[in-house]
Amino acid sequence: MMDFPAGEVWLVGAGPGDAGLLTLHAVGALKQADVVVHDALISAEVLVYAGDATCIFLGKRGGQPSPKQPEITARLIDEARAKKRVVRLKGGDPFMFGRGAEEVLALRAAGIKTRVIPGITAGIGGLASAGVPVTSRDVNSSVVFLTGHDQNGNLPEHIDWAATAKSGMIVLYMALRNIDAIAARLIAAGRPADDPVCVVANATMPKMRVLDTTLERAAHDILKDKITAPAIISIGRANLMRGQI
Ligand code: SAH
Repeated sequence: MMDFPAGEVWLVGAGPGDAGLLTLHAVGALKQADVVVHDALISAEVLVYAGDATCIFLGKRGGQPSPKQPEITARLIDEARAKKRVVRLKGGDPFMFGRGAEEVLALRAAGIKTRVIPGITAGIGGLASAGVPVTSRDVNSSVVFLTGHDQNGNLPEHIDWAATAKSGMIVLYMALRNIDAIAARLIAAGRPADDPVCVVANATMPKMRVLDTTLERAAHDILKDKITAPAIISIGRANLMRGQI
């Protein structure tokens, strides 16, 4: 186990939910932590490893707006200055659409020592748990990871849809709300309307749900099946291997 000095903040990836997917370093960090600051995506099963640490929930709850990033960063800095061992626990991998880089920069600017412990991201491990390989020889040799919304919930600007449409596999995070618009843009850019799509909600967790659909039907089927966040959406022919894996 790596020694966790007092006064440091470690950004730790918790993986997609199943505690079995924590790394040994993540467990070591949680065991030594005095304070664990986490958001809504962290499962209770994972927090068990935090033992006696004070767990602070800073995230969206019951439709309330989430705390602003500066508020979270300020809390991390305060706890570190109080000589606590602080784990900033993030779902999946801290650097995959997780604002991990922003937080490390802010902490370093405040003179706080940091360490990053990677985690299994939902867009790879979560899909695997549903039998979807993000790459498979003979099927695809490229993957694009895309976020389905920007800070304001809108479709991110400056996406090169023509280039994205050419990727063997397209993996979407946070895209339930904008899937209609995303599918329309990809189809307009040349992606087949009947391209296989897999939607995996609550991947690796007991309430995991998987929906098999197509690009043109995805938005409709997601509504019909009442699929809710968190969900990963994969677009591409590798989805067809799900039946055999
Ligand atoms: N850093 C995280 C992603 C954070 S963004 C990671 O690496 O996985 C939050 C989005 O991640 C969710 O909206 C959803 O698209 C995806 N996600 C995270 N956990 C998930 C899970 N267990 N099942 C499905 N999607 C998940």
